[in-house]
Formats: sequence, C-alpha cells, structure tokens
Amino acid sequence: MHIRGAHALVCGAGGFIGGHLVNRLFDEGAASVRAVDVKPLDEWYQTNPKAESLVLDLQEKDACLTATEGTDSVFQLAADMGGMGFIENNKALCMLSVLTNTHMLLAARKTGVKRFFYSSSACVYNGEKQTNPDVVALKEEDAYPALPEDGYGWEKLFSERMCRHFSEDYGLETRVARFHNVYGPLGTWTGGREKAPAAICRKVLEAKASGKHEIEIWGDGHQTRSFMYIDDCTKGVLDIYHSDILEPINLGSSELVTINQLVDIAEDLAGVKLKRNYNLSAPKGVNGRNSDNTKILGYLNWEPSIKLRDGLAQTMSWIEQEMLTTVTSR
Ligand code: NAD
Repeated sequence: MHIRGAHALVCGAGGFIGGHLVNRLFDEGAASVRAVDVKPLDEWYQTNPKAESLVLDLQEKDACLTATEGTDSVFQLAADMGGMGFIENNKALCMLSVLTNTHMLLAARKTGVKRFFYSSSACVYNGEKQTNPDVVALKEEDAYPALPEDGYGWEKLFSERMCRHFSEDYGLETRVARFHNVYGPLGTWTGGREKAPAAICRKVLEAKASGKHEIEIWGDGHQTRSFMYIDDCTKGVLDIYHSDILEPINLGSSELVTINQLVDIAEDLAGVKLKRNYNLSAPKGVNGRNSDNTKILGYLNWEPSIKLRDGLAQTMSWIEQEMLTTVTSR
C-alpha cells in the first residue's frame, strides 16, 4: 500500500503534526487528501487548498464514517493533548480520546480502509524506567509491564492494543508509531497546551523583548529529553506507514539534552543570557526520557537526524513572527 495515488485521510489535520502531514502526503503523490479536525477552520494552524478540509467531531461514530468514506489510507492523529501542564491536569479529557480511536477503527473497518496509521506516544512507557536523568533509552518492550503516564499514556497504550487486535481479528492493516516530543513551526506555542521547546522559545523571546532578563523553568532543569523536528516526524510517519513493521515502534530523536541545555540553545539563538528561576512545584513529567532507535534503524536504515539547534532556530523565528503578529493585531 503506497501513498502514491492513494486517497488519504488525516484526522487532527488542524493541529500541528496533522497540518504538516497533509502537505507531505501531497508531496509524496497522494491522489487526494481529506483533512479533518474538530476545530473551526480559522483555528487550524494551516490548511492546504488542495485538500478537502472538513470540520467534524471524530468522537462521534457517524462523523468517523463520513470522514473515512472513499478513503483507503487513514492517519489517525486526532487527540486531546498538550504538554505536561495540560496532560497532568486533564486526565479524563485525555482518556476520552478513546472514543475517537474506537470509532475511527470501527469506521475504517466498515468502509474498507486499506491501512490505518495511529500516532501513539512515548508516554506509554513504564514510568519506573524513567526516574533517572541518566536515562537508558527506551526500547519498545519497555512499555510492559504497563505503568504508563496516568490518563494520556493509558489511553494511548489501550488504543495501540486496539489497533493490534483489529489487525489480528478483523484483518485491518495497522501501523503504530510512538512519537517522542515533536516540535517545529505552525504548532502550539502559547495558551497552556504548548510543549517544552515552544514554551522555552516563547519565554526567551518574551524576556528579551521586555528587557526583564529572567526565565521560569519547570523543574530543576536537569530533566533529560530528546526532541524531534517536524520534518523528521512526517518522513518517519510515511516510512513506517509504507513498511511491514507490525508492532508499535519508536519515532523520536536520540539527541539527548537536559532542559537547561535546551535553554542554553534558545538563549544563544536569541542572543541573550537570562537568570533562571526554577519552579519545583510545576508539572515536569518524568526525570529522563530518550528514544532507543535500534529497531527503526534496523527496519528503515534511518532515524530522525535533524539537529536540535537547527530545528529550534526555525521554530524560534516562526514564534517570533507570531508574537509580532499578535502584538500588531491587538
Ligand atoms: P495537536 O493538539 O496540535 O493536534 C491534535 C488535533 O486533534 C487538534 O487540532 C485537535 O483539535 C484535534 N482533535 C481533538 N479531538 C478531536 C475530535 N474529537 N475530532 C477531530 N479532531 C480532534 O497535537 P499534535 O502535536 O499535532 O499531535 C498529533 C498526535 O500526535 C496526537 O495524537 C498526539 O497525541 C500525538 N503525539 C504528539 C506528540 C508531540 O510532541 N507533539 C508526542 C507524542 C504523541
């Protein structure tokens, strides 16, 4: 099942990754792309004029049937999610994405979709394997025994397994990638759902603009993470989609940094040096997390490779433009 000539559906297309994926599908030769999101069109990060863009609530079964009708390749990215500040305080909302995943799988089966891609998350991994900032990178088998991130991670793990059983029992071909922190332009950078790279870029730019050279950092700054630039993410999604990889697989960068190092890069790009105030009571997630890429390298002979500094430069310059637009449109 190659995407060239296919009729694709992107769920969550008004969001960050979905918006970029729509463009990539056209670049790779999709015959048509239907883009669906629950948000009103004027709130989508981007719309592609070649796509059929529809506003539908995919928690509803009928909406999922409308969305999948006439498509053969589904990319299910729709979810209620955000950074740690959001998922730690909205566990029920995160778990309700199970409605979307259940109804999308049922609809895909009913309408004869050929292949179904599901975006899972590194939040499925057992929390006890992420207590030390000196991380041992997470291998796919580290999801079990299950002790995922409460709320959001449990829902992702459950939906991964639904994909597996829809394949085994109903013959629906599924592919599942576990995304590790994705960042880049045209995504959430303010409002409470933003993740660390966008939040740090925004805070550094705000401090620079205001002349108050201070920054609040969530946690002690020693937490470690890896961050994948959006172009690596969309390439990985399609490569995994085209592959024969039947088990959930990591899709993430293995360039590990501390949050302090992330701030160093952002300061350097902005040309400022800030006093750091550590908020130890803010949500900070696990102490350390990295992606073990042995499996993806084995299957695809490729892993996400765009350097954090290069990706962050692109992200920061986009956020700077957004901040200017927000100020001038007030
Ligand atoms: P995003 O919030 O920017 O996009 C998700 C989109 O789904 C939003 O536009 C939202 O309106 C839409 N949506 C939510 N509920 C819906 C519904 N009922 N019907 C239709 N649309 C609905 O998030 P993103 O960063 O683009 O993430 C996309 C996917 O990747 C999500 O499933 C997320 O869990 C997963 N993921 C992302 C990251 C990351 O770092 N961004 C990491 C791990 C996993």
